[in-house]
Amino acid sequence: MASLGLKGITKRFGETAALSGVDLHVEDGEFCVLVGPSGCGKSTLLNIIAGLTAQDEGTVMLDGKPVDGLAPRERDVAMVFQSYALYPHMTVAQNLSFGLRIRGASKPNINRQVLETARLLGIEDLLNRKPRELSGGQQQRVAMGRALVRRPRLFLLDEPLSNLDARLRSSVRLELKRLHQKILGTMVYVTHDQVEAMTLGDRVAVMSDGQVQQIDRPETIYAHPVNTFVATFMGSPEMNLYKGRLTSKDGRLRFQGSGFSLDLVGLQLSLEEGDVELGIRPEDIEIGQGGAAIVQAKVDMLSNVGSEQYVHAHIGQEGLTVRVPKEATLEPGQTVTLSINPDRVHIFHTGRRVPATSDP
Ligand code: ATP
Repeated sequence: MASLGLKGITKRFGETAALSGVDLHVEDGEFCVLVGPSGCGKSTLLNIIAGLTAQDEGTVMLDGKPVDGLAPRERDVAMVFQSYALYPHMTVAQNLSFGLRIRGASKPNINRQVLETARLLGIEDLLNRKPRELSGGQQQRVAMGRALVRRPRLFLLDEPLSNLDARLRSSVRLELKRLHQKILGTMVYVTHDQVEAMTLGDRVAVMSDGQVQQIDRPETIYAHPVNTFVATFMGSPEMNLYKGRLTSKDGRLRFQGSGFSLDLVGLQLSLEEGDVELGIRPEDIEIGQGGAAIVQAKVDMLSNVGSEQYVHAHIGQEGLTVRVPKEATLEPGQTVTLSINPDRVHIFHTGRRVPATSDP
């Protein structure tokens, strides 16, 4: 396996800037997820790494050596696509062995590697079937197997689970994570699904508009998003975000929003006054008077998702979502007192995070 380095990758399609100066380093054996909304440049970046698309500027490196002059085959990179792209007329065994055969591997070697890979993925019983005789999840495993079988230097996966239904998707996701722990391959995985990114990635690169906005461990991105885009993109339900003004009196910060205010007692920021946006994650709001910042909200609607409920409410002129336990009994129209721990709010100035002194 190899480490991957990207330096200043830029790509334009006519007037469209698909990628602007992307830098990224993925360690040998690391699982890196590229996540972002449709059109942010994820697939273009993956195709550039694979050598299928040429960048306008910048360098792709494997183990520190530029590979820009190498054809896709010479880069020894394996790609798994959303469509699986299995050969329909070949059996699973033939699909798995195809890459080895065209590389001229010996028959005993091919048989051994196919069997090893099939065992790793739990598809030994399917080797004689054709793709049309397989379920979506099984086809997905064969597609993974085809990438795995020749032990490439790097795996590139482009939305490989998006053809699966929600239940299968979460179980295949777990399998993929286990598989990665077993083979410790270097993986770059593209998705627009932030849950997939959070659960799979050792590190996550959040992209928008052809740029990497933040790259870090998923828990760090969730706790300390660098800007309002990352803050609202990562997390479901989305972070509540309000425009308003930050003021300070006797060292106490206060946020004045549209029709409501919050006393942010104890919060220490590098900024004391100014127009800001204040973010609160739905799970960081409590019903009742436990925290320091108290605000009255009017309940509009409840959505029960089984394990918990989402309360959609209003504070002042703004909407608010709160995650509450499934047992909570609230009614639309009811006024509730909410408390917010000031340590849990996120403050953004001109779209960028204002670090709290308690931030690591
Ligand atoms: P999705 O999640 O929808 O696949 P993505 O993040 O993978 O999106 P890309 O497919 O990389 O995004 O596209 C990035 C931008 O480049 C988009 O604006 C897209 O329209 C444009 N683009 C991609 N390929 C081409 C092409 N061959 N010709 C012209 N424009 C392209």
